[in-house]
Amino acid sequence: MKKRRKIHEGKAKILYEGPTTGTIIQHFKDDATAFNGERHEVIDGKGVLNNRITEYIFLAMEEIGVATHFIKRLNMREQLIKKVDIIPLEVVVRNVIAGSLAKRLGMQEGIKLSRSIVEYYYKDDALNDPMVTDEHITAFEWATATELEDMVATALRVNDFLTGLFRGIGIQLVDFKLEFGRHFENGNLRILLADEFSPDNCRLWDIKTGEKLDKDRFRQNLGGLVDAYQEVARRLGILNENGDIIDSDDAKNDKPTLVK
Ligand code: UDP
Repeated sequence: MKKRRKIHEGKAKILYEGPTTGTIIQHFKDDATAFNGERHEVIDGKGVLNNRITEYIFLAMEEIGVATHFIKRLNMREQLIKKVDIIPLEVVVRNVIAGSLAKRLGMQEGIKLSRSIVEYYYKDDALNDPMVTDEHITAFEWATATELEDMVATALRVNDFLTGLFRGIGIQLVDFKLEFGRHFENGNLRILLADEFSPDNCRLWDIKTGEKLDKDRFRQNLGGLVDAYQEVARRLGILNENGDIIDSDDAKNDKPTLVK
């Protein structure tokens, strides 16, 4: 088999050169890290679930007209994506106080925000991804004012849509992180939603029990991470009751399970 060229290896994913120009293969690893890589564990099955959940969410995004880098899922752990130049920002949307917001401002986790908040972090592990404002972003030319406007508008649309989608399956979307990239095609430049959307980069709480169904299970040593991610996948209609993967073509036709 022809050896693929590795382009980049991150904490949870590996990027390989794709089969055609302008494409990349995104491989989901089982590695879980927290506190900027200080804690690291391999959690069997996480990559497979995140590949499926990201596929499901990104296809749903395309349906509401949010352009993404996703082309198609290739296998259990890999998806084909469009090559983009990643904008070095993490765009975080929050609906409920949790995580670093609770810590930084000394606020109690779980309080619903009166309106959604958007925050930006500069992607730099060495600096621990510092929080930045639109002033820094435009002054240092990480993104133009128009690009930033575009990213914020998209992030808020994604929030509205996914809040409803998760609510329908008994889950509260507390917060999430998005990344965007610039894509050049036929001489045109477009901003695409990139990276992934999985319980690794959002907070999902069961509406009835408050149980955490996301990476906080790892960050807070609660255990049961794969069970929680499986529960999310099951409610989205990606996994059946036995925990087996439902073929994605069937899954698309299947409505998510409504939780009464
Ligand atoms: N997040 C992420 N990658 C990061 C930092 C945060 O995906 O490097 C996600 C995180 O999972 C949560 C949201 O962004 O859903 C807000 O995270 P927060 O600022 O509370 O930071 P945390 O305390 O989770 O590091």
